[in-house]
Amino acid sequence: MNKILVTGGAGFLGSHLCDRLIAQGDDVLCVDNFFTGDKRNVAHLLGHPHFELMRHDVTFPLYVEVDRIFNLACPASPVHYQFDPVQTTKTSVHGAINMLGLAKRVRGRILQASTSEVYGDPEVHPQPEGYWGRVNPIGIRSCYDEGKRCAETLFFDYYRQHQLDIKVVRIFNTYGPRMHPNDGRVVSNFIVQALKGEDLTIYGDGSQTRSFCYVDDLIEAMLRMMDTETGFTGPVNIGNPGEFSMLELAEKVLKLVGGPSRLVFKPLPSDDPKQRQPDIDLARERLGGWEPRVGLEDGLKETIAYFRTMFAV
Ligand code: NAD
Ligand code: UDP
Ligand code: UDP
Repeated sequence: MNKILVTGGAGFLGSHLCDRLIAQGDDVLCVDNFFTGDKRNVAHLLGHPHFELMRHDVTFPLYVEVDRIFNLACPASPVHYQFDPVQTTKTSVHGAINMLGLAKRVRGRILQASTSEVYGDPEVHPQPEGYWGRVNPIGIRSCYDEGKRCAETLFFDYYRQHQLDIKVVRIFNTYGPRMHPNDGRVVSNFIVQALKGEDLTIYGDGSQTRSFCYVDDLIEAMLRMMDTETGFTGPVNIGNPGEFSMLELAEKVLKLVGGPSRLVFKPLPSDDPKQRQPDIDLARERLGGWEPRVGLEDGLKETIAYFRTMFAV
């Protein structure tokens, strides 16, 4: 049995990862400071003999004995990561240093949840892993983007300098049950607005595009990445290449939820990328035939069902 540390394990992605690890018989230590995570996301695991939940902030050292680490701790939505931007950078950078130091001491394998935001507002489309990105170092998104870029740098320096067994995945927009209802992400915003009968807020003219990956597909790829052979570090893009404009997304949500909502247009936030789509050829090639399986409409249905129970509507 593997003893696995999941940082950020009470968050959206982390809690789904804990579920899968427990289901496959691993021993899971879930570490979270509950900044954006919620105990309710892992409440169903609390009595499980192989599950342990620990309140801890990864910017501080952590001494535990584990075989593998999934490092997911970091607020992921602009509303949350801009709330305390200095803490966001610390979480990515000091958090990475501490988790890498831990992995080095226990000689364990460590996977970093990086992000498509390392590509910034890209001039290459879709983005392959070899693209270096176009990131504003001093903008309001920089605490997240540059923090994650620096974390990647640290991972690769620990790999080169200390021969650490690292894995890096770059996650593209992922959605599903247990997303934070108030985190301002477009999928949760649109669904919550539609369920409440409020108008859907389109930022800009709605022509900007994103690719949305359903959480189960993402977790499957992460688990496969963790099991790849030593020396295969990535970075590997994980996402669903299906690309939709925000207008198209809004229309799909309206169709599935029904109700009186209309579309209203609001100003586009600064540094908002115009287009984003993963190039997942490397994931397809290296992750044992992995392929996203859940289409946007099916994934939205699951997510809407979750938010319906949350708001009892
Ligand atoms: P989330 O906010 O639900 O989860 C992040 C978790 O980290 C939360 O439980 C939060 O409480 C915890 N956390 C934050 N700072 C911490 C700290 N200093 N110490 C300990 N715990 C801390 O977000 P998510 O969507 O589940 O994202 C998980 C990871 O995946 C993040 O690293 C994020 O950057 C990355 N990611 C997510 C997406 C996405 O679309 N969801 C896309 C790209 C990358
Ligand atoms: N660290 C940790 N847990 C451990 C081992 C290390 O949190 O089990 C932290 C430690 O506080 C240190 C960081 O990881 O600041 C980096 O460790 P490393 O061994 O790379 O560097 P050093 O200790 O030499 O600064
Ligand atoms: N967006 C929107 N309405 C909302 C929330 C977001 O039109 O209520 C837009 C946002 O401007 C961006 C896209 O949707 O162009 C995706 O935003 P999100 O914050 O979900 O993800 P990210 O920008 O980090 O990819």
